[in-house]
Amino acid sequence: QAKRFGGDRIEPFRPAYKTIGSGRLQLESDLRRAFERSELSLAFQPIVDLQSEKVAGFEALLRWEHPRRGSISPAEFIPIAENTGLIVTLGQFALEEAAKRLSDLHRATGDNRFFMSVNISSRQLIRQDLIANVRSVIDRYKLAPQTLKFELTESMVMDNPERSAQLLAKLRDLGVGLSLDDFGTGHSSLAYLMRFPFDTLKLDQSFLRNNSQPQRPIIVHSIVTMAHDLGLKVVAEGIESESDITQLRDLGCEWAQSFAFSPPIPFEMARRLLVDRSASLKRAS
Ligand code: C2E
Ligand code: MG
Ligand code: MG
Ligand code: MG
Repeated sequence: QAKRFGGDRIEPFRPAYKTIGSGRLQLESDLRRAFERSELSLAFQPIVDLQSEKVAGFEALLRWEHPRRGSISPAEFIPIAENTGLIVTLGQFALEEAAKRLSDLHRATGDNRFFMSVNISSRQLIRQDLIANVRSVIDRYKLAPQTLKFELTESMVMDNPERSAQLLAKLRDLGVGLSLDDFGTGHSSLAYLMRFPFDTLKLDQSFLRNNSQPQRPIIVHSIVTMAHDLGLKVVAEGIESESDITQLRDLGCEWAQSFAFSPPIPFEMARRLLVDRSASLKRAS
C-alpha cells in the first residue's frame, strides 16, 4: 500500500498525504491526535433503489481532514488504523455518529425506513464489546434495528471464521442488517460465505470495471441470480455505464451505490436531499 507512491524525495507542498518512509509513522501519530482534534467526520453516500432511483439509505464513510495535508483517503488511513488498533476507537466513533445521523434523518423526514450502513473491521468485530455498543446505539437513538446495517468484507470474516460466525450471529439476533462488502475481490465462493448470516451482497465495483470480457453479462447475471436464490439482496457498487445500470435493474438488483448517482456527501447535503427533493436523484451521466 505505502509502496504505491514510490520515490523518497521531500516535497514541500503536497496536495495529498503520501505514506512514504517515516511519513507513515508521522501519519500514525497524527491519526492518534486527529480523533481528539475532531478532524474525523463521516460522509454519506446515497444507496439508490434501482427501480425507483430514489435514495433508500446511505453508507457512512470516514473522512479525515488533516490540518496541513488536506483530506486523506480512508484507503490510506484505515489500514494504518487497523495495524495499530486505533480502528477500534475510529470504528466506535463511526458507529455512534452514523446511528445519531440516522435518527436525525428519520426525524427530519418522518420516514423511518431509510437505512444507514456502517463499515466494520475485523479488529472491531472480534472485540467483546461490539455487540453491547450496537445494542446501546439502537436503544439510545431509538432505531428500528433493521435500519442499521454493517458491512464486512470477505477477508475480514476469513481472518477468524469461527469467531466471526459467532459474532455475526449475535449481531443478526439484534435485528441489524449484515452486508458482505466488496464481493468479487476475494477467493471464497458465495456458497461458502453463506455460512455467515449475511442478508445483502455488495458487488464490488472492480468486478464490473476491470472486466470487459464478452461473458461479463452472463457472470453478472449468474451472481445476481444466485445471490437472490440464496435470499440475499444485492447492491451494485460503482456502476457507471447506462448498460450496466439497465442490466442490473432488469435482473432485479435492489440497489446501486455509485458516483453515477452521487458521491459521498456531507450530512447536511444528505439531509437536504431527502427533505427537499423527496430523495430522487438525477443521474450524473
Ligand atoms: P467501501 O466500504 O467499499 O466503500 C465504498 C468506496 O467506494 C468508497 O470509498 C466510495 O467513495 C467509493 N465509491 C463509491 N461509488 C464509486 C464510484 O462510482 N466510483 C469509484 N471509483 N468509487 C466509488 P472511500 O470513501 O474512499 O472508502 C474506501 C474504503 O475505506 C471503504 O470501502 C471501506 O473499506 C473503508 N472505510 C471507510 N470508512 C470506514 C469505516 O468507518 N470503518 C472501516 N472499517 N472502514 C472504512
Ligand atoms: Mg463498505
Ligand atoms: Mg465496498
Ligand atoms: Mg471497498
